[in-house]
Amino acid sequence: MVREQVVSRGVRDRRVLKAMRRVPREKFVPTRMQHEAYKDSPLPIPGGQTISQPYIVAFMVKALNLSGGEKVLEVGTGSGYAAAVLAEIAAEVFTIERIGELAEGAATVLKNSGYSNVHVRHADGTEGWIGEAPFDAILVSAGAPKVPKSLLNQLKIGGNLVLPIGLAHRAQELIRVTRIGENEFEQEDLAEVCFVPLIGK
Ligand code: SAM
Repeated sequence: MVREQVVSRGVRDRRVLKAMRRVPREKFVPTRMQHEAYKDSPLPIPGGQTISQPYIVAFMVKALNLSGGEKVLEVGTGSGYAAAVLAEIAAEVFTIERIGELAEGAATVLKNSGYSNVHVRHADGTEGWIGEAPFDAILVSAGAPKVPKSLLNQLKIGGNLVLPIGLAHRAQELIRVTRIGENEFEQEDLAEVCFVPLIGK
């Protein structure tokens, strides 16, 4: 999977590739789909949601420019797979999911897989995780109509926020927002992507 789907498309970051190699993706997909866990596509998970395509997870994690040891927030836990990939690089991962069944399932699989540095919360992630802020990096795994202000406020200066933005259902631009000062942000377009919508405040 890593060689054929990730490296071949240009993601070469050593930390990201190592993390992708270490996480057992089959543990994060529904049992009846485990034979498809390493397929080059997203897969359905409960609640009408998806576990993202492996390459997209690698691309987004790479875009955060982590060097190891960071405190990271993820919005949209889903299966918990991307949180596990982040947890292979970062020191602590705080991840929020709005669907209770998914939050519970992800917390269980992450715990059983030994990811004691991942903390899962069932809530609206557009408001961030105030008690744990600020974060070195924030990853949003669902498409938002605009960048949630609370997430910008919870980003450290120098930190990156990566998220899909767009009004169209399931067709967005993946962007990176870097906080360069107390009230100064820089924005870059990274790629066209297709995500389930971010639903919340
Ligand atoms: N990162 C996930 C994984 O590795 O399986 C895939 C995420 S899936 C593409 C997007 C997730 O975002 C869904 O599980 C959805 O319920 C969740 N979501 C949507 N709006 C949300 C919100 N406001 N707060 C938290 N989670 C949200």
